[in-house]
Amino acid sequence: MREFFNVIPPDEALETLLDRLEVTVRAVIVPTSQALGRVTAEDVVSPEDLPPYPRSTMDGYSVRARDTFGASEALPAFCQVVGEVAMGSQPQVSLATGHAAVAYTGGMLAEGADAVVMVENTQCVGDNSIEILRPVAPGENVIQVGEDVRAGDTVIPKGRHIRPQDIGVLFSLGITEVAVAQRPRVAIVSTGDELVAPEESPVPGQVRDINSYSVASLVREAGGLPMHIGLVADDYEAQRLAAMDGLERGDILVFSAGSSVSSRDLTVRVLDELGPPGVLVHGIAHKPGKPTIVALVDGTPAFGLPGNPVSAMVVFGILVRPVIQALMGRTEPPVTHGVHAKLTKDIRSATGREDHVQVKLIESDTGILADPVFGKSNLIRTLVEADGVVVVPLDDGGLYGGDEVFVRLY
Ligand code: AMP
Ligand code: MG
Repeated sequence: MREFFNVIPPDEALETLLDRLEVTVRAVIVPTSQALGRVTAEDVVSPEDLPPYPRSTMDGYSVRARDTFGASEALPAFCQVVGEVAMGSQPQVSLATGHAAVAYTGGMLAEGADAVVMVENTQCVGDNSIEILRPVAPGENVIQVGEDVRAGDTVIPKGRHIRPQDIGVLFSLGITEVAVAQRPRVAIVSTGDELVAPEESPVPGQVRDINSYSVASLVREAGGLPMHIGLVADDYEAQRLAAMDGLERGDILVFSAGSSVSSRDLTVRVLDELGPPGVLVHGIAHKPGKPTIVALVDGTPAFGLPGNPVSAMVVFGILVRPVIQALMGRTEPPVTHGVHAKLTKDIRSATGREDHVQVKLIESDTGILADPVFGKSNLIRTLVEADGVVVVPLDDGGLYGGDEVFVRLY
């Protein structure tokens, strides 16, 4: 068997590809209601001030602040309630000195008012009169015009992943359509003589195809559009045709399995012979997932993922997902969601290799524990049982039970 001739750290493998990738983000207009999870293709600029009029942040009374100066429980300020400003309505009342008007949270202030007194700091004295027990400063309990968003402000910059709160701000400004990056199409080819479609019953020696579906799901989660090219035998010509089909239909080509160095492993030859420059990386310093291929074919990124379903998913996360995001012009640094936890057992690792260890999280009296889910590399169940992953860095020889670790959550 040939050796991997050029095993490099995973982040270097990714950089090698990204450095050569020419990204042109194609924009499409979608209704804001369907923009969740998409990436903005342009800066979204506010057409108006928000709020467009001063709003009360409290239930209470709008007043002229100076009428309340010096007020206290012992010596309250006395105000006459001259009306109310109903929700959804413009003020019909105007305040003179010593006047107040009923105000509701989110409602407008009365004409002439510059602050709101919380209802808790007042008491009624007879009909239409109140005592104010604490002073308010001008502007207190009021959101000013444009305090939330100013007309002309960039509310969501280009290249940002759209979250539920972003949908909220877009609608608050009346922005019902938004320009987002087209979803990169990811062509998926599963290879292996032993594979059968999941609806079939495998005979001994055969296995159901997992990767077509787990990888497609990862593509969707990353914002891409999976395209199933099909299940292909370990046959060079069949794989070459599938690869060409995939390149025609996809913005990214992903081959599953056959990525190692035995004579049955054809992916490296297939991806190398389709067009220049071909294979850039064969083998990454990572466990699981050493037999990984990164290629570029006439500008289209192509990957050979290891067939082992656990490795395929892990490698997808470190190499394919960032490329999907790059093709959408996503600019913000990837934020890793995770928790700190205490490791329950030792994890051994070789230096010069980055290890991804699946862990289950356990709540305990002393805090959160991270319990490694060890298993032989072919056990897909380890991923299902795991809540996240602990990364043992390249130059680290392992971690000890009791160590404080950062768990990246799924
Ligand atoms: P390979 O990368 O071809 O050496 O395959 C490594 C292991 O992953 C073998 O046990 C394969 O049977 C298994 N495998 C390959 N492709 C898939 C797939 N699509 N679904 C499930 N298991 C697979
Ligand atoms: Mg195989």
